[in-house]
Amino acid sequence: MTFDELNIHEQLLEAISYMNFEKASPIQEQAIPVAIAGHDILACAQTGTGKTAAFVIPVLHDIVVNGQQGTTTVILTPTRELAIQIHQEIQGFSYFTDTSSKAIFGGDKGKDWDAQKRALVEGTTIIIATPGRLIAHLMLGYVNFKNVRHLILDEADRMLDMGFFDDIQRVLAYLPEDRQTLFFSATMPPAIQSLANKILRNPQKISIAIAKPAAGVTQKAYLTSNNQKVPAILHILEENPDYDSVIIFTSKKSNIMPLVRALRTSKEKFAVAGISSDLEQNEREEVLLQFKAKRLKILVATDVLSRGIDIKGINVVINYDVPGDAADYVHRIGRTARADAKGEAITLINEADMYKFSRIESLIEKEVPKLPLPEEFGAQPVWNPKNSSSFGRSSSGRSRTKAPMRRNSGHDHKSKHHRNNSAPAAEGGEKPTEQGSSEEQKAKPKHNKRRFWGKKKANTNTAPKNDNA
Ligand code: AMP
Repeated sequence: MTFDELNIHEQLLEAISYMNFEKASPIQEQAIPVAIAGHDILACAQTGTGKTAAFVIPVLHDIVVNGQQGTTTVILTPTRELAIQIHQEIQGFSYFTDTSSKAIFGGDKGKDWDAQKRALVEGTTIIIATPGRLIAHLMLGYVNFKNVRHLILDEADRMLDMGFFDDIQRVLAYLPEDRQTLFFSATMPPAIQSLANKILRNPQKISIAIAKPAAGVTQKAYLTSNNQKVPAILHILEENPDYDSVIIFTSKKSNIMPLVRALRTSKEKFAVAGISSDLEQNEREEVLLQFKAKRLKILVATDVLSRGIDIKGINVVINYDVPGDAADYVHRIGRTARADAKGEAITLINEADMYKFSRIESLIEKEVPKLPLPEEFGAQPVWNPKNSSSFGRSSSGRSRTKAPMRRNSGHDHKSKHHRNNSAPAAEGGEKPTEQGSSEEQKAKPKHNKRRFWGKKKANTNTAPKNDNA
């Protein structure tokens, strides 16, 4: 379905067109008309489905059509990263309107507090906030939310995981009872359902199920520190000499070349190449051709390759890092075990990515076994998802202790692989980039991450040049 068919205001359609969104994703197709009609929504949808636009577009439509006076919309979200991301998406969609928005989150300096206070006092139209920081402002008495007519809870399950239940309840006390509430959660455990029952009025239920990994894929994981990753990959390859077709996925382009070099210069001198949006279309096709013809044993790729590429006979997919969301995970590991064949998917999980991986496990409804590395690797991180920085504690400014390492029977000498290889740049747990988060300044609608339901330009050469492609 195209956006024109959804009865969205012209000013928004123009911005949507600038953002190169061609078709509405399933969650957008289902949620936008229901929200525009004024109903509450209980939506089960995870990151990557286009859920942000599914709530931002109808809210902006209502603001453009019915006007604004003070703050009309409060969006609660678990982390500062998500708050910034939503804010940026709002900036894009509202480019041709005069709507203002501000992301409000904790853990920063005094001047940010003052800017947040100013935005709240001035009645910025849309407030996107982490619950803890918003409560801190609300308690000081200068916030007037009497004109709020939309409340959105984004990633409600993650907010509850992070202990924001009480903060959410307290925020509710500051909002008018007569409002529309849009409730989005990736999973629907009983605690989420009872919260939803409390705050929603006759909600329309929408559920976007994610595809599960194919049955033929055997999934495994290793808990590793960043500098254990290359040795772990070499160990996996050494243990399985009959693998002749291996894809290694990484979320960051900057990881590709160091990894390619480490594999090329290893004892086995693997035939390996890297592929990312940095290559021209014809160069990418050439690399793929070599890989398909088995002249290359290993391909190191970003998620650009995780969708849609059909190469038969891939023995194993190794995730150098945990992908951004469950859909990416399913797409990555779906490169192996195609057409009823068998295949393996092995994920390397550092401490920072543990929570992210535990979310993926709950979405695919499967606990992936965490295997020990050989003793010579020394200490490995211990599985503790709620201590991981992908848990997102930083948003509320609460402290987190470092997860312990599991020692392997007193051995702490380096594996033989350590001699040759240094790990690519550390990833995971990095501070989010806050570029473009100068809330007062409007960003032009920009080209966002390509999604499978389609954008206008199919030519992959035009993919945005960032570190995630
Ligand atoms: P979300 O699930 O909201 O995190 O969205 C995932 C990504 O998909 C974001 O980068 C969006 O910009 C992009 N996206 C959302 N809706 C569409 C659409 N209809 N067409 C193409 N891309 C989209």
